[in-house]
Amino acid sequence: MEIIHDPSGMQRAALRLQAEGRRIAFVPTMGALHEGHMCLVDAAAATGAVVVVSVFVNPTQFGPAEDFSKYPRTLEADAALCRTRGVAIVFAPPSDGMYAPDFSTYVDEGLCSRGLCGDFRPGHFRGVATVVTMLFNIVRPHVAYFGAKDAQQCAVIRKMVSDLFIPVEIVVAPTVRESDGLALSSRNKYLSPELRGKATALYGALSAAKAAVDAGERDSARVRSVFLQTLAGEPLFRLQYFAIVEDWTMRPVDVVTPGRTLAVVAAYLGETRLIDNLGL
Ligand code: AMP
Repeated sequence: MEIIHDPSGMQRAALRLQAEGRRIAFVPTMGALHEGHMCLVDAAAATGAVVVVSVFVNPTQFGPAEDFSKYPRTLEADAALCRTRGVAIVFAPPSDGMYAPDFSTYVDEGLCSRGLCGDFRPGHFRGVATVVTMLFNIVRPHVAYFGAKDAQQCAVIRKMVSDLFIPVEIVVAPTVRESDGLALSSRNKYLSPELRGKATALYGALSAAKAAVDAGERDSARVRSVFLQTLAGEPLFRLQYFAIVEDWTMRPVDVVTPGRTLAVVAAYLGETRLIDNLGL
């Protein structure tokens, strides 16, 4: 396994692989890798393609008051994990290698990125769309893997790739959860043991919403009440948003269409912001 820091070096390696007729499967991450990331890696490796994992804490997707500086950075452990899972290249550029001091070009998807996290993290999806475009141009993947846990991010990337005719296939893999239902996230490391014990309530409330739909409920407002009542059982959660949305556009819907509707949530537990979602 190779670790490449220089974007031009990564681009040269990718062009060389393409010239040899190899398929490149790409998993973009911010590192602090866990089994959620590694399931994406396994899915990529299972295709027999050359697997490239990027590890880059992207400054442009963090707001000024967010956790960019304290975000966990564990490149050595990340690389060791990648080595055991068939990754060919870890691409770990330095911040200033990606963003020159006079960097001035951004990608702004204008439908799926509105509302939800887009409202509470202004500029976040602009940063995500921009860095993913840059990474696609550097890594030149045939296929790229994203996690369903970040549902709005998936919708933004799919729309961007479609709108801009970016020649890459997007695969979305299911959310990997702890045994109590909490979605794996690098930010779970911020939770104290006490709060970690409470965190399962978020998935519990999403599951209650889904159970209502499974029992025949289709009215979004009533499904919302079920979610809110269930989450109220854990008063330490501070809800940022809960919405019932169409899965491809992230637009709110009044009526649930099973298989095409997501329940999406963001909530604080202590100082830690958790997001999750469940297909209804
Ligand atoms: P991040 O490092 O948080 O930017 O995540 C990198 C990729 O891993 C994104 O596509 C995430 O959606 C995905 N991912 C993170 N956590 C999970 C999880 N628990 N299950 C599935 N995919 C995940």
